Amino acid sequence: MENLYDLVIIGAGPAGLAAGLYGARAKMKTIIIEKDKTGGQIVTTEEVANYPGSVPNATGPSLIARMVEQCDEFGCERIKDDIVEVNFDEKIKVIKGTKGEYKAKAVIIATGATPRKLDVPGEKELTGKGVSYCATCDGDFFTDFEVFAIGGGDTAVEEAMFLTKFARKVTVVHRRDMLRAAKSIQEKAMKNPKIEFIYDTAVKEIKGDGILESIVFENLKTGEVWEHFADEEDGTMGLFVFVGYLPQTNLFKGKLDMNSHGYLITDDKMRTNVEGVFAAGDCRDKLLRQVVTATADGAIAAIGAEKYIEENFEH
Ligand code: NAP
Repeated sequence: MENLYDLVIIGAGPAGLAAGLYGARAKMKTIIIEKDKTGGQIVTTEEVANYPGSVPNATGPSLIARMVEQCDEFGCERIKDDIVEVNFDEKIKVIKGTKGEYKAKAVIIATGATPRKLDVPGEKELTGKGVSYCATCDGDFFTDFEVFAIGGGDTAVEEAMFLTKFARKVTVVHRRDMLRAAKSIQEKAMKNPKIEFIYDTAVKEIKGDGILESIVFENLKTGEVWEHFADEEDGTMGLFVFVGYLPQTNLFKGKLDMNSHGYLITDDKMRTNVEGVFAAGDCRDKLLRQVVTATADGAIAAIGAEKYIEENFEH
């Protein structure tokens, strides 16, 4: 059968690359399909300090480059294609891209999730240069600096507390007059002397010449607009955006079980509700979305796929 793979992996972030490595090492005919840049969210991170065993000064791109090398060494194919349709109804799964059609005995979905953006001027240009979507990844860069955390949900308030370990002051800016975060989380944050809250306020613009220098805010009730400049001595500050995440799972709506936020539901073997279809990494309903959990998911899913193929297909 043309283009028949043992294992098709959709997504080349850490989960997909780990699945590719384990799949190819298990001598499965394996391909990773990625529509965008290889590496997923982590390639936007300048320093990766929390991936166990990573070399000093490891960056997102350097870590991903090594993962790609490992996949290539073991003969995992990689291709750029935008998947537009999947058919998981038969034993052989069909994955259609704009460039071609791929058939698979098993599929691993590793499409990730993207942090929701504010969609304001300057945000894109200053991402990684003061604007961040990950406190665990980037909090440390703002040791003794001033930091803003945008959002009013559990993530914004919890991450604001985490950021107080580094920043001298953290201001949570929320667009409404009350937080969405759980009361218990709110209470804890309100007791933290390093945290301040600003309500009814949105970010209108983010400015800086190569590094974040000022943020334009608007009070949504009064219409007042003001610009907050980084302390002159600091030269910059942190702006952390925590306004929710968007799992990249639209393709699978109505085909695979997902929670109310669109994250794919799996068991601890990374199996979805459809036999032969696995999910790994940030697109999955889980507690912690980090490189270390994504690579672990990918490895488990690949070995699960190998076992599934052994049990369900003739050699
Ligand atoms: P979330 O609950 O969807 O909250 C997103 C927050 O961002 C809301 O406060 C929302 O404002 C605000 N927002 C959305 N779009 C915005 C925009 N364009 N500009 C400004 N603000 C915007 O997302 P989350 O906090 O990431 O949490 C996601 C899920 O994970 C939730 O179910 C949460 O309970 C769960 N979670 C749980 C824990 C925990 O239990 N410890 C920790 C983290 C996350 P509005 O309030 O006005 O809508």
